[in-house]
Amino acid sequence: MNIVIFGPPGAGKGTQSNLIVKKFNLHQLSTGELLRKEIKDKTKLGQEITSIINDGNLVSDEIVGNIIEKYLSDKTYNSRLIFDGYPRNLIQAKNLDRLLNKYNQKIHVVLKLSVSLETIKKRISERKNLEKRTDDNEKTAIKRFLNYEQNIQPVIDFYKQSNLLKVVNGETSISEISNEISGLIEGIKG
Ligand code: AMP
Repeated sequence: MNIVIFGPPGAGKGTQSNLIVKKFNLHQLSTGELLRKEIKDKTKLGQEITSIINDGNLVSDEIVGNIIEKYLSDKTYNSRLIFDGYPRNLIQAKNLDRLLNKYNQKIHVVLKLSVSLETIKKRISERKNLEKRTDDNEKTAIKRFLNYEQNIQPVIDFYKQSNLLKVVNGETSISEISNEISGLIEGIKG
């Protein structure tokens, strides 16, 4: 099965994706992580996107679309992907649909992690010390949160229409959130 997980920065998408990957034998496709790797490896793309990411802005739909297609076209990951951080706007959601059709796949469930800005600020200041991400400071975190809020509503409506959206309370503990998500996924499998 393919799963989409989204939520504001610091909502726990990465942590929860990791747990789902292990439990259901999926592959995590985190556009944020792949983009950070480009920066770390100092590739041409990495150099192009460094300031965009550090300023808390979104990279172009084309760049992330190309990354997504690379994975969807690879048979190793056929119907085993969890999209972490994609789509982030309606153009990306429609592009994902187009690519899924092209490669004869579909999304089985879309998980939305709901978390308040106060919780996010707290989590990001904790994560800053652990992961040392250059975009984890309060100013950028707020910008990323506002960016998220601004673009995500049409994506939510898009997946509501196709009855795929499940909202998960992201304010509780890692294990509580994980149990809720596992229950939802089991429900779909069964
Ligand atoms: P994340 O790890 O999901 O918080 O993403 C970190 C950063 O990578 C974001 O603030 C964006 O600059 C960039 N990014 C990740 N995914 C996308 C996407 N789907 N579209 C545009 N930019 C993205």
